[in-house]
Amino acid sequence: RMASPALLMRVVASAYSVAEKAATIVRNVMSTGDLGIVEKAGPNDLQTKADRLVQMSICASLARKFPKATIIGEEDLPTDDVTEELIEDGHCEEILRKPCPAQYTGIKEEELVIWVDPLDGTKEYTEGLLDHVTVLIGIAYGGKAIAGVINQPYYNYEAGAGAVLGRTIWGVLGIGAFGFQLTEAPAGKHIIVTTRSHSSTLVNECISALNPDTVIRVGGAGNKVIQLIEGKASAYVFASPGCKKWDTCAPEAILHAVGGKITDIRGNSFQYNKEVKHMNSAGVLATLRNYDYYASRIPNTVKESLVP
Ligand code: AMP
Ligand code: MG
Ligand code: MG
Repeated sequence: RMASPALLMRVVASAYSVAEKAATIVRNVMSTGDLGIVEKAGPNDLQTKADRLVQMSICASLARKFPKATIIGEEDLPTDDVTEELIEDGHCEEILRKPCPAQYTGIKEEELVIWVDPLDGTKEYTEGLLDHVTVLIGIAYGGKAIAGVINQPYYNYEAGAGAVLGRTIWGVLGIGAFGFQLTEAPAGKHIIVTTRSHSSTLVNECISALNPDTVIRVGGAGNKVIQLIEGKASAYVFASPGCKKWDTCAPEAILHAVGGKITDIRGNSFQYNKEVKHMNSAGVLATLRNYDYYASRIPNTVKESLVP
């Protein structure tokens, strides 16, 4: 008989199933046609019924299994009184079969911080740009993003009948990342992926300084990191505050698991301990390859405009 799987692998295996349940909720809310949109900070900072139900589903499901872990979700909602139909208690067997990297086998539940973005790309969700949407569950230990799950509920939605709708990508530092085909971006081209709905003069000034061949403007931090690992873009550049720790934790773990790099615009790594400030005030710079090339070309004036 094998020893029981390490805590980290059990958390990731559960997060995988919880994210699949979340994707079902995201699709169900859309199919009812009643999104229940609420403005948070303003018209570009929205919350829908899907954001609310998914946050309750993910946080309550993980809290039930891992009560001593710290779980931080984007939405400001009560976590008690969650209806039983929102609870997912399954897990992914394939993840449990992978050996836990030695440096993580001793992790205690109370040392984990789980960052949850129930629906990343809400603005795009409300506008019908459905494949921009992801569900993000990031797992941090010692202030570092070490594992993550990204579910894309509408992956393949334009591929026609017969294509499987939705997918789940997961990764752990020291194991790798799965659920997609790792692909290099075209060599010698500078394809920048950035925000679609949160642009600013500084955001555009920074991109121009990188002399891009192409600029792809799409919603979601999860979606943009997927563009990097699938070779659609060579750098994710966002010279603005606005992106938060729950946006970057899961994507960071997956990107780092396949050898990429994500920092703020000034080159500082992100911290994910539970006391940390939520806002990534100094923006985002991420690549699968050639991080130094892009980092070295960010103008100092742009860096100085963004205070961590
Ligand atoms: P975007 O690339 O614009 O889709 O942003 C990535 C993530 O950061 C999403 O979760 C956005 O909601 C969030 N975000 C970025 N900028 C802002 C902003 N100015 N206000 C609120 N949320 C933002
Ligand atoms: Mg988000
Ligand atoms: Mg969100």
